[in-house]
Amino acid sequence: MTQEFFSQGDLVGVLTTQPLDRVLDYKAPEGGCRLGDYVEVPLGPRKVLGVVWGPGVGDYDRSKIRSVCRVLDAAPMRDEMRQFLGRVADYTLTPMPAMLRLATRAPGLGDAPSMRKVYRLGSNEPDRMTDARIRVLDVLRDYGGLSFTLGEVAEMAGVGTSVVKGMVKQGAVSEEDAPRDTPYPTLDPDHGGKNLTPDQAAGAETLRAAVRSGVYGATLLKGVTGSGKTEVYLEAVAECLRMGRQALVLLPEIALSGEFLDRVEARFGMRACEWHSGVTMTERRRAWKMVGQGAAQLVVGARSALFLPFRDLGLIVVDEEHDTSYKQEDGVLYNARDMAVLRAHINAAQVVLASATPSLESWANVEAGKYARLELTSRFGPAVMPDMRAIDMRVEELPGGRWVSPTLQRAVQTRLDKGEQALLFLNRRGYAPTTVCRACGHQIGCDHCDARMVEHRFLKRLMCHQCGETKPIPLACPSCKVEGKLAPIGPGVERLAEEVAILFPQARVSVLSSDLFGSARALKAAIKDIAEGGADIIIGTQLVAKGHNFPNLTLVGVIDADLGLQGSDLRAAERTFQLMRQVAGRAGRAEVPGQALLQTFQPEHPVIRATLAGDEEGFWRAEAEERKTAGVPPYGRMAGIVLSSPNVQEVFDLGTALARADGPLRRIGAQVFGPAPAPIARIRGRHRVRLLVKAEKGAPLQAALAEWVAQFKPPATLRLAIDIDPQSFY
Ligand code: ADP
Ligand code: ZN
Repeated sequence: MTQEFFSQGDLVGVLTTQPLDRVLDYKAPEGGCRLGDYVEVPLGPRKVLGVVWGPGVGDYDRSKIRSVCRVLDAAPMRDEMRQFLGRVADYTLTPMPAMLRLATRAPGLGDAPSMRKVYRLGSNEPDRMTDARIRVLDVLRDYGGLSFTLGEVAEMAGVGTSVVKGMVKQGAVSEEDAPRDTPYPTLDPDHGGKNLTPDQAAGAETLRAAVRSGVYGATLLKGVTGSGKTEVYLEAVAECLRMGRQALVLLPEIALSGEFLDRVEARFGMRACEWHSGVTMTERRRAWKMVGQGAAQLVVGARSALFLPFRDLGLIVVDEEHDTSYKQEDGVLYNARDMAVLRAHINAAQVVLASATPSLESWANVEAGKYARLELTSRFGPAVMPDMRAIDMRVEELPGGRWVSPTLQRAVQTRLDKGEQALLFLNRRGYAPTTVCRACGHQIGCDHCDARMVEHRFLKRLMCHQCGETKPIPLACPSCKVEGKLAPIGPGVERLAEEVAILFPQARVSVLSSDLFGSARALKAAIKDIAEGGADIIIGTQLVAKGHNFPNLTLVGVIDADLGLQGSDLRAAERTFQLMRQVAGRAGRAEVPGQALLQTFQPEHPVIRATLAGDEEGFWRAEAEERKTAGVPPYGRMAGIVLSSPNVQEVFDLGTALARADGPLRRIGAQVFGPAPAPIARIRGRHRVRLLVKAEKGAPLQAALAEWVAQFKPPATLRLAIDIDPQSFY
């Protein structure tokens, strides 16, 4: 049995967040420490964060071993978290210190429990009553027992903070210190449940029973957009809360969380704990600590919420489980959907994967009997799936530089005449994807990347979508120096907005593209405004495909349905199918039936046909067959290796050497392809080379990969990233 407590002076091994390949020995501090305690330890001249990992190894001169500085005020890391981090590390070939960094991503964990000033009604009368002072007293009386920060009191009373401070001096308002990290309000599982349809009620009961079982289980919850998947899984959350266990709902897009958190509040009477990059630093720390103490019952978060230190996690919901943003594409390359299943397994928890268009991975896991499947077949209420049709662009009369076909234009006009909303979908940010010189044919590229600069008229600049570099739009061509000949080629959403303004001069147009909003808050506000009828025509990128609810939207026009089919990506067909179905699903959510029109030059393409026919099972079966034949995921295993360096020779040298020394891979029957220049051969000045490893499904791929790359010691300038189950191949 493992030792759980260490007395002062005992040797302990501490895993730190620093990139070292071993656990370091320290002496337990005064008062001792427990296994799993978060501690601060000296490392060279610095103090770093760590976790007590076990007894010390003792292979180091004992007189030189330093003491743990202090034990942090946080619940110790639980054994299941430790197992989880270890398993993710093994799966993704990530060193443990990087895993620990991921699990402690809240600033100020080491700070003493911090206090803040709060304000209540004082015992004295103010010397003089003014309107402003009366308002302050009213506010504090109205909310008797509660205390507020200075800013909150001032805002609620509509006065300046100096008014409140003045009243503190006179004792009319009292100022006290209160701990900053307070528990989240208790949620009421019986607060606001809806009357479910028989279909929904049956699904909810199945999930409730699964949650009650107290063991691991995975369920794919499939249903068209608007069928009430959210209502159903919130019932599973309610059951989890009734059992006194914690629940986690993962969402792919933080922009969604506003609408979603309102729904959660309506369901449970109080707001849940939020976790994503838009949350303030103070709030992040509070969340991290309260989740660890079990004082946050429900967390709604982005993928990294999976690494919060839950005390007793009973349910994880992965909403829009097919969404590619669940794959973290830098740092630790993990897929939050897959790791959610792993975490649920370790915690004896249930996991629910919800989607209108599941990934082939999850579909295959259902077929293999690993996941249960629940299906909601119809939309809630009178809404039905929109009527979907192709617009054959080969026969439309459309002048150059225009993208809305006459057929689509008429359809939009019809909706506008009825006072309904139309959405035009184009998955390209900016004004134009390419800027070309009409004199010499030069295309403006990024100085640091092997990518074209995209014109953003809104910003009045050219932007590289790889590295984010921007530069002013030049007057003269950088190559031939001729002035006034640079011209935009192809459409982006901003350019489409110009065309729409000409076609529909009376319409109010709103462009939804992630780069047009300075903050998540501004984006949320725009989405809310649209939902409330603030626009007639919405022009949007991928952003709008995700679960926003626009009740008055009845027409979706896809400007270029062929866009996703061109990629060489193994999931190109799957992604196009999902995206088209998701986008189409935006139409006709309320009483009015919707329509989706797909502009395409290849209406006979199997993916376009399957999309239009809505034959999902057929599409999946065909796609599954193709992948089986090719031996690719989910029927085979893959790993991508990306080498990058400012020195082009270096990356090719190592790439070639790796390809030659493939013994460890061959031993497990795996094959290596490459090296080849990556599709984007240079990013931020670093040259990139890729290798691809393919193996059979059951092969011990990670161990072989580790042994394979360990044969080389790459130069310090070279970065080698291993991407298990790659989702992107750029
Ligand atoms: P999904 O998650 O499948 O897209 P939602 O759960 O968001 O579907 O449901 C779509 C809309 O229908 C939401 O506004 C939701 O509140 C409403 N709705 C779904 N089921 C019910 C129900 N049984 N009673 C009342 N409203 C419902
Ligand atoms: Zn660039």
